[in-house]
Amino acid sequence: MSSRLPDFVDPWRMVDQRRLFSGHVAVTDLPRLAKVVLGAKCDIELQLEFARDREKRACIKGSVKVDLLLECQRCLSPMSFSVISQLNIALVRSAEEAERLPDNYDPLLLDEPRIRLLDIVEEELLLSLPQVPRHEIGECCSDIDQKTEQTTVDLEEPSERINPFAILAELKQK
Ligand SMILES: [Zn+2]
Repeated sequence: MSSRLPDFVDPWRMVDQRRLFSGHVAVTDLPRLAKVVLGAKCDIELQLEFARDREKRACIKGSVKVDLLLECQRCLSPMSFSVISQLNIALVRSAEEAERLPDNYDPLLLDEPRIRLLDIVEEELLLSLPQVPRHEIGECCSDIDQKTEQTTVDLEEPSERINPFAILAELKQK
């Protein structure tokens, strides 16, 4: 068990030692992610557990959690986007090995002796992002603008209608 996150690790050794890494990282520590999001409401909470499954497959299980801020592509205002992602990664040494994996595993092809822990986290988050971020219907600023206009019209219409009658009534009284 470790709460401090090392930068690079030897994944095969981590598997043999059944290492568990957990902690928090800032979005700004993940430059590729930081480029495509507006920010985050909190740090990224992560847990990565290196182990072997029942078939002795080397794998990384864990989770990545964060509340991101994305730019809505309809109204260009920030929108929150929560990611709670479960990792189920199998370490493989070749594309053939990756193809033989059961469907529930994501292959991580290792061609170098070391991996950067944060690369795993960053990759997972990038894959979780919507291709075109958009507010939910009714929550988008462009919807809210339309609603505001609607309300203004609703409020003005009755008063416009009442006024002429009121004036008319006043005229009749005279
Ligand atoms: Zn929007």
